[in-house]
Amino acid sequence: MPSQGRRTTPLPKGWHRTRARILKRDGHVCQWPLAAGGLCGEPANQVDHKLGAAQGVDDHSDGNLWALCQWHHDQKTGREASAVAHAKPPRRRPAEQHPGLIN
Ligand SMILES: [Zn+2]
Repeated sequence: MPSQGRRTTPLPKGWHRTRARILKRDGHVCQWPLAAGGLCGEPANQVDHKLGAAQGVDDHSDGNLWALCQWHHDQKTGREASAVAHAKPPRRRPAEQHPGLIN
């Protein structure tokens, strides 16, 4: 039975501390390698297992953890079949015009 997006193993004790440590180590920057070279570089708010339950791995050591932006985390965990995993996430849309400027 498919269980995409669902964690099959519980997070380790003190995960919130581990998570904070990894985010700090990676500078709160997404570590996803881009096909063109370099890293994604978007602000990261997720800590992800490079190899996880999907690969039959239960490794919560720092070396198996990395910071990802929400977009890449979603790409990795939610839509693994998607072919756009190496595309850049969309930039934030520009600020809307002040209503006072619209006539
Ligand atoms: Zn990213």
